[in-house]
Amino acid sequence: MSGSYYIRQPKQVLGEVEGKHVGQDIKNIVILTGAGVSAESGIDTFRSAGGLWEQHKVEDVATPEAFARDPDLVLRFYDMRRERIQQVEPNAAHYALARLDAAWSGNLLLVTQNVDDLHERAGTQRLLHMHGEHLNAWCNACDARHPWRGTLMDRPACPACGVAGRLRPDIVWFGEMPYRMDEIYHALEQADLFVSIGTSGAVYPAAGLVREARRKGIKTLELNLEPSRGTSWFEESRHGPATLMVPAWVEEILGS
Ligand code: NAD
Repeated sequence: MSGSYYIRQPKQVLGEVEGKHVGQDIKNIVILTGAGVSAESGIDTFRSAGGLWEQHKVEDVATPEAFARDPDLVLRFYDMRRERIQQVEPNAAHYALARLDAAWSGNLLLVTQNVDDLHERAGTQRLLHMHGEHLNAWCNACDARHPWRGTLMDRPACPACGVAGRLRPDIVWFGEMPYRMDEIYHALEQADLFVSIGTSGAVYPAAGLVREARRKGIKTLELNLEPSRGTSWFEESRHGPATLMVPAWVEEILGS
């Protein structure tokens, strides 16, 4: 591993001297991923360019209010994102996490904030999308969800109820409740290690999971390009690109 990408923050945490090999005594793992994991596949992170997401203000494209105000703008935006993710490929970080999932005999849950499908395309099975999925459409007339690869801008009919114009991206927008929080908290309850990868720590409740982990006294590790907003909550932080940091960590924990 390159020294320039590796920063340990020596701290006295929870009565243990930090720096102990992170794989020791670990059976159950919860991993949280964010947009940084997919950045090297060519998908923009949220706050890449001056606080904009793909040239748009978040509040113009990622809130229920924006959808009510200007549905064409929002549907077009998500149609483009949906098309884009089908043109990119998983990277070494996605593949390393899939390898860990396949090899790890204890409990493991990969909770992703990402709405792309790169974790599943890399082969991760124990996966939960807390913010929804680009490749799903949700009918606001009958509540059915459908796999969806095409566009929504043209107001197609719902395959279940036949009503046209009520399908929306199955994405958790700001102000909406993330999916499957009970399962996430249950997995954290059983976990010995919480690892956060490629997330800014700015979007709640995902950003609060590290505090929950610390409250339970389990180990916490951050892998991110730079210190996240929540970095001081982590027992250990390593900084560098996900395609280097994640395979190195997976190698380490599988070898422990
Ligand atoms: P974010 O954009 O707020 O933060 C991304 C983090 O990743 C930053 O801290 C950044 O330093 C780090 N990062 C950037 N490049 C990296 C790399 N190569 N290796 C490691 N880390 C890197 O994203 P977030 O924290 O996931 O939260 C924002 C929201 O954005 C989520 O709700 C998510 O649904 C949505 N989002 C998803 C995608 C996607 O599905 N790929 C893309 C953009 C936004």
